[in-house]
Amino acid sequence: MSVPKNILESGFDTKSQCCGCGACVQVCAKNAIRMQEDDEGFLYPVVDTDLCVECGLCESVCQYIVSVGKNTALQHAYGGHINDADVLNESTSGGAFSAIADVWCDENYVIFGAEADGLKIRHSFVTDKNEIGKFRRSKYSQSVIGDSFKECKNFLNDGKKVLFSGTPCQIAGLKSFLKGKDYDNLLTVEVICEGVPSPLFVRKLDEKIQKEKKSSIISLDYRYKDSDRWDYQVMNISYSSTGNSINGTIKYDRWLNPFWSIWLAHLMSRPSCYKCPYTTFNRVADISLGDLWGAYAFCPDLYNKNKGASLIIANTDKGKKIAQNTLKTVFIGREIEFAQALKYQSPMRKNIDINPKRDDFMQDLKAMDYDTICKKYAKRKSLKFLFSKYILGTYRQRAWWKNIKRQLKK
Ligand SMILES: Cc1cc2nc3c(=O)[nH]c(=O)nc-3n(C[C@H](O)[C@H](O)[C@H](O)COP(=O)(O)OP(=O)(O)OC[C@H]3O[C@@H](n4cnc5c(N)ncnc54)[C@H](O)[C@@H]3O)c2cc1C
Repeated sequence: MSVPKNILESGFDTKSQCCGCGACVQVCAKNAIRMQEDDEGFLYPVVDTDLCVECGLCESVCQYIVSVGKNTALQHAYGGHINDADVLNESTSGGAFSAIADVWCDENYVIFGAEADGLKIRHSFVTDKNEIGKFRRSKYSQSVIGDSFKECKNFLNDGKKVLFSGTPCQIAGLKSFLKGKDYDNLLTVEVICEGVPSPLFVRKLDEKIQKEKKSSIISLDYRYKDSDRWDYQVMNISYSSTGNSINGTIKYDRWLNPFWSIWLAHLMSRPSCYKCPYTTFNRVADISLGDLWGAYAFCPDLYNKNKGASLIIANTDKGKKIAQNTLKTVFIGREIEFAQALKYQSPMRKNIDINPKRDDFMQDLKAMDYDTICKKYAKRKSLKFLFSKYILGTYRQRAWWKNIKRQLKK
């Protein structure tokens, strides 16, 4: 396949061949390619045919054309959480990303990650690990990669130690951009990824807030660890009329949040996510990070109450060395069985299914307001479900009670 020049106007099948990593944009010596948003809110490369000299450079770095090479090293899995309570509180799961950055970055280093500016998500870098707070917290929207691959390459060639974090397709884009060259001074860290949703959905929520509160969203934390609430996966939205001081906040409980209901029903993912080539246990990066799903069943000692626990998978020797060093220094946990961890990580085993209602949903998303969309598509939870989650507790809480009962019987 070659890179189509008018991918923006093409259909789902062609679009599903482009994950939007932006390597083609950054490699083009003629500046003939730019990223442009389509009507679903996803970015695609658009080629200016007047500037294009058909040199083929863009195709040479397209990860969907070039094989990026799979890791073959024996993988190791670890579970646990960072030993710093404040950092843990700011992190999505167990703070594994911060622990790894802490160990890898000793001197002369650069860290790349995804930061948020209101609803805009973009990749950037810091040269002081005390500033990585802005990369913490998963932003469930595709980050705009900008010139990060070029900048990363320059830093690597200058001999700096680089930690590059992102989604698996972004890491594959970087590797492809680097032409598969191995750099001892590069550590790649990917989040295990279920796909990226259309940013149009949260923009609709912003429109609602603008209308009702005469304010705009200035920050959106998808998985706020709210100590006052039952569960730690609360969506916390702050809005402001001036752009500075917060006028108010809206909180959605995990089980009543239309965003999770709609996204996890796979109604609004990027087309390429349904055919993602990285939904396999052969990973792209040195280290993969995720939530320690299933901890209640196979390693309850690592669940860390409601504060969050991470899964770290070391895919290469370099990754293993760093992961093991975190356990000796800043990460509280232990090695766990890789096969068990894999059992609870569907994005490492299979693609997400295309919801047959996706087309209808995307059409409605463009035309309807936030409340109407949610009413039509967010699954209303049954009383039985809510009783089970809020009264009986989550699987983890129920497993915990069972354990206590077992101990008392002994
Ligand atoms: C879009 C997305 C989908 C995910 N899906 C799953 C899943 O299905 N299963 C699972 O177990 N885990 C998933 N994760 C990973 C999970 O949310 C945590 O990031 C992971 O558990 C690491 O936790 P932490 O406490 O170390 O995180 P934090 O310290 O909060 O780490 C944040 C890390 O995530 C990166 N990041 C944040 N937002 C983005 C973004 N938009 N694009 C690229 N990189 C980003 C940052 O650069 C940083 O490296 C997903 C993350 C994202 C961003």
